[in-house]
Amino acid sequence: MTRQFFVGGNFKLNPTSLTASKSLIDVLNKGDLDPNTEVVIAPPSIYLLSVLDSVRKEVKVAAQNAYFKESGAFTGEISPKQLVDAGIPYVVLGHSERRTIFHETSELVATKTKAAIEAGLKVILCIGETLQEREAGKTAEVCEAQLKAVVDGIKEADWSKIVIAYEPVWAIGTGKVATSAQAQQAHADVRSYLAKAVSTSVANETQILYGGSVTAANCKELAKQQDVDGFLVGGASLKPEFIDIINARR
Ligand code: PGA
Repeated sequence: MTRQFFVGGNFKLNPTSLTASKSLIDVLNKGDLDPNTEVVIAPPSIYLLSVLDSVRKEVKVAAQNAYFKESGAFTGEISPKQLVDAGIPYVVLGHSERRTIFHETSELVATKTKAAIEAGLKVILCIGETLQEREAGKTAEVCEAQLKAVVDGIKEADWSKIVIAYEPVWAIGTGKVATSAQAQQAHADVRSYLAKAVSTSVANETQILYGGSVTAANCKELAKQQDVDGFLVGGASLKPEFIDIINARR
């Protein structure tokens, strides 16, 4: 089974102007991109529609978050139904910044994942351990607990709508990238958990991305690992080197 190489760009709360957002898209539109890589970018919600209009058609667009309700009195939220209606195919859920800064629990992330899939979105589902958890030898346990909430809430067929992003919290935005061996081990553990908790075919077919301080300099080595199916890129997705990361397998 060959899983398609997948590179996501998580712009987070960047850039801070429509003009800067347009220049970022310009770089992507002019870049020589490996046609074998699925590329998905997640701009801030206020830029979603302008990005969708202006980005080349091979590049897909994701929201960075969505609520689980369709509509109603939920000030500040966006619903999966609205994203689908606007033509946005993907949503990032469970990012560690949402889990820590905005106190999203694994149960809420699972509820949102289910709602997103039911509305017709694909989900980039983020999981990962803190430094303290890694040092306590709990990496696999933490990732399994984060995944279990989702496993319990969705059907086996729904896994074809999910891309997992393994993002160790200690590597996000810190410049401290996981070694290829650390990433490979965590990805292999996630895959064996999926085999046990869902099915071997889901384990074999689900793309597992690595995220956390991925750069043009470290992506090639990581991309060689058997269970690393791509990347979720934060900081470097705002720079021209994002193109090199998309082309990591070339
Ligand atoms: P980073 O962020 O590449 O800046 O470490 C990754 C992420 O948060 O998805």
